[in-house]
Amino acid sequence: MEKFTLVIHGGAGTILKKNMTPDKELAYNDKLKDALLAGYTILKEGGSSIRAVEASVRVMEDSPLFNAGKGSVFTNEGKNEMEASIMEGGSLAAGSVTMVTNVKNPISAAKAVMEKSSHVMMVAEGAVKFAKENDLDIVDPQYFYDAKRYQQWQDIKGSTDIRMDHLDESEDMAKTQINAEFSEPADKKFGTVGAVAIDKDGNIAAGTSTGGMTNKMYGRVGDSPIIGSGTYANNKTCGVSSTGHGEYFIRAVVAHDISAMMEYKGVSLQEAADEVILRKLPALGGSGGIISVDSEGDFALTFNTEGMYRGSIREDGEPNVAIYKD
Ligand code: ASP
Repeated sequence: MEKFTLVIHGGAGTILKKNMTPDKELAYNDKLKDALLAGYTILKEGGSSIRAVEASVRVMEDSPLFNAGKGSVFTNEGKNEMEASIMEGGSLAAGSVTMVTNVKNPISAAKAVMEKSSHVMMVAEGAVKFAKENDLDIVDPQYFYDAKRYQQWQDIKGSTDIRMDHLDESEDMAKTQINAEFSEPADKKFGTVGAVAIDKDGNIAAGTSTGGMTNKMYGRVGDSPIIGSGTYANNKTCGVSSTGHGEYFIRAVVAHDISAMMEYKGVSLQEAADEVILRKLPALGGSGGIISVDSEGDFALTFNTEGMYRGSIREDGEPNVAIYKD
């Protein structure tokens, strides 16, 4: 049997078992498994890692559980501004969109930019126009309305606070305080989604999609659409998808840094991931995690937070999912 591997995440943060109900935990685990199986079906039949990554991310974008697509959080102006990126490790081709407000699946818009334009990154109305021209699903912005997300925004509307995702009613105390100096928030939950895969042909792909952070300033762009920070893939080394406090992930160039350590220093994926996520990023003040697959099909799911919604699947078809720190 030819080997392949797919890993996914649905965000990292202070995700604690004591704040989770059994129903909610089940819902997350089930949706993570759905996302894994969507990609697995493609890889099993010899499909490309790019298609598998897109399929897995779309499942999570279509679920209100995650802060991407349907579950996207609100900006300080009460809008849903989404961003996504995808990269192919053989050709180093990449595509990215940001500030899209009515594209149902931003990951597919990023893929269209990669495959059907000569550009890497498209923003706002131009990105939407391009998505339309490529027959992607466009929805009324109301589609993204979610009562819980809206309430999360109402709670801090008008303030400078920024609330991370995955907050629930039992965690009202957990309002994120990002003060004027942009210190790290007391509570950190990041609901971005991502997938990384290597297919039977040895091609690696990575993709990431997000609604960003609740009450983020108009025009704010995080790490998720930034190639090299939120997403990176190189067949020589690994593919990476990030989740966490985007400003730090941009400044630490997280995804490419992990790949570069492997390429230039010959370190293993796990060593590179540990160095960046457990040492470099915390030293800057940044929290979050990554999922990554290397050219051997080995993977790292590394985070410096209490938990990360995550999962993996290989050719045996057994989906493994986890939420909390082991
Ligand atoms: N990285 C995302 C951002 O900063 C947030 C997340 O991971 O949920 O926009």
